[in-house]
Amino acid sequence: MHTLSLSTPIQDLFMVGKTYASRLKKLDINVVEDLLHHYPFRYDDFRLISKISQLQKGQMVTIQAEIIDCQNIHTKTGKKIQKAVVADGSGQIEIVWFNQLFIPQTLKPGLKVNFSGKVDTFIYKTTLVSPEYEILKFPGRARNTKDRPVKTIHTGRLVPVYPETYGVSSKWLRSRIAPVLNKLAPQMPDWLPEAVKTKEGLINLNSSLERIHFPQNEAEINQARDRLKFDELFLIQLKTALRKKAWQKNKITTAFKVDQEKILSFIAKLPFTLTSAQNKVLKQILKDLSMKRPMNRLLEGDVGSGKTVVAAAAMYIAFLNNLQAVLMAPTEILAQQHFQTIKTLLEPLGVKITLLTASQKLPAQNRSTQGGKIGNCKLEIVVGTHALIYNKVNLDQLGLVVIDEQHRFGVEQRAQLIQKGKAPHLLTMTATPIPRTVALTLYGDLDLSVLDEMPHGRKQVKTWVVPWQKRAAAYDWIKEQINTPAGGTKSQAFIVCPLIETSKKESMKDIKAATHEFERLRKTVFPQLKLGLLHGRLKSKEKEKTLNQFKEKKLDILVSTPVVEVGIDIPSATIMLIEAADRFGLAQLHQLRGRVGRSAKQSYCLLFTSRKSNQELKRLKAMQKYHSGFKLAEIDLKLRGPGEIYGLRQHGFSQLKIASFTDTDLIEKTKLWAQKIVKKLAQFPLLKEKIKKDKIRNIEPN
Ligand code: ADP
Ligand code: MG
Repeated sequence: MHTLSLSTPIQDLFMVGKTYASRLKKLDINVVEDLLHHYPFRYDDFRLISKISQLQKGQMVTIQAEIIDCQNIHTKTGKKIQKAVVADGSGQIEIVWFNQLFIPQTLKPGLKVNFSGKVDTFIYKTTLVSPEYEILKFPGRARNTKDRPVKTIHTGRLVPVYPETYGVSSKWLRSRIAPVLNKLAPQMPDWLPEAVKTKEGLINLNSSLERIHFPQNEAEINQARDRLKFDELFLIQLKTALRKKAWQKNKITTAFKVDQEKILSFIAKLPFTLTSAQNKVLKQILKDLSMKRPMNRLLEGDVGSGKTVVAAAAMYIAFLNNLQAVLMAPTEILAQQHFQTIKTLLEPLGVKITLLTASQKLPAQNRSTQGGKIGNCKLEIVVGTHALIYNKVNLDQLGLVVIDEQHRFGVEQRAQLIQKGKAPHLLTMTATPIPRTVALTLYGDLDLSVLDEMPHGRKQVKTWVVPWQKRAAAYDWIKEQINTPAGGTKSQAFIVCPLIETSKKESMKDIKAATHEFERLRKTVFPQLKLGLLHGRLKSKEKEKTLNQFKEKKLDILVSTPVVEVGIDIPSATIMLIEAADRFGLAQLHQLRGRVGRSAKQSYCLLFTSRKSNQELKRLKAMQKYHSGFKLAEIDLKLRGPGEIYGLRQHGFSQLKIASFTDTDLIEKTKLWAQKIVKKLAQFPLLKEKIKKDKIRNIEPN
């Protein structure tokens, strides 16, 4: 038996073992420290101790009584009830439980027991139904414990209630947490600098853990929460500050020259005028590019706000400086589309654009590992997918990396791409409308540019939440729009099919659902129309073919899995129908909706819901009202928490445990402290170690 410490694996803890350890893993509890940081989300108030004779219906109480009798009773209807008769000198009552067969073996006559719960009636008699119970002392040992108040953890106090998982109850957790706290809290090191605690009026780490689990009163809960929230945000901010410091060590060999004239003529040749937001952001980027320190900028812009052309301008500058630029996108479809766009924009200016995806390999001469050029085959601008990372692609003249939909890539993947060059500039882009507070926290090391304006002439996408009863009518309406549209030109529609697994990654089940729906729609709903099917498992040639058919209006309807969410640009499509919309976050729905409304023509978005989810309608109605991704993300943030905005838990994000992204004051405060402390981290060895250890399981932006 080794000594208990914070880093003891949870399965070595007394009364845990392998089975429980694997259950606890689901709660992200791997070592003893994690157990202590598994915080209750509420407390049952069982502080009121009542005599049996004074019980009043509806009260939350604790009674301290002696067991007279306890039996399993089988009712006529085949149910199993546990009944205990208990007395406390003032009176006697019966207590009942349901289907807890082991209770009579535990609650033997003569035991003194606390019962906590809500006073109720059962078959006309005052009782407690399924109360918490806690044995106070064994009669045989009464002499030893005489006169000493018994410390309870399940009854007679504010009792913590935890996030649970199958086979792990709050009672079980309390029983493990209490002894660990008793043992470890007294000599627990506190890594938060003394000065911070004093200035912010925060209690010590050990007290905060004791109080979060077993508080004496509400004030203690608040003190504990204040400290633990501070810790959570402060650690994230400190890591962000460290990343920023590390990035700023990078030095560029020669700063870019920004040829204003060439940029102006690039802009002049565009088929549209840039929005003022695009102009503003482009200026910020060009300024970064002319610095000696590599740019590290996040470009945030709602779907359709026109990020690509801004990125193209930056890549053009890299080209003019005789350096290479890459653009990496998360899907093959998107990479192909970017390839076409960039080609149209930059090829006339004499730039060579190359596509690199899993199915589109590079010519052999560009795969060599040495020498920037072979003949005049030097790669200039490369657009691609993950294949950029995993292929031997010659990028030793890399001056600029652009990553689209950056949160779809892991930290590692981004680092690998950047490392192909010496110290390239980095521009990451996202259409995920990250609320400012979240961006400040998770991406505090990046400079932020926001495209907060849509190109002129766009109409708002009219959005309707369609209850299941109105399905047929909606299908008829779509038919009408496609066959005999009011405005003259035929419409085209996307139909996005159920996301069965609630993740952003497409699964086999999702594809089956889309295929099934495709068949149904083709045969029974739209037999006169031409339908196409798109999902992630299709060969990329097939995908390309289908997309092109849709683009060329050879298809009326494109049935698809949610992969179309990302980036597809088909301005002639004006209807977006989303099945099982209640399974998506609002921000995701907004991204899907952004696939239409890309021309001057009125577009529509229909949100279908499943039969069960009438209360979800309310949430979805926000889509009818709001047309800003930021606004919708804020609503999602309030309703469902940050994880849901991104659907990102599978990217290694964990949610905040106790702090909140809506707590702007604390976010700002912890940021200031982090900036102060990061400069003298060496003075705080405990904190330094904490940061190192914490890395693996804390929030890392992707
Ligand atoms: P996103 O920011 O979602 O990546 P895109 O870059 O794909 O948006 O742009 C969406 C569409 O808007 C494209 O068809 C693009 O050509 C067009 N576009 C971009 N900027 C403008 C503008 N200033 N005026 C009109 N159309 C624009
Ligand atoms: Mg885009």
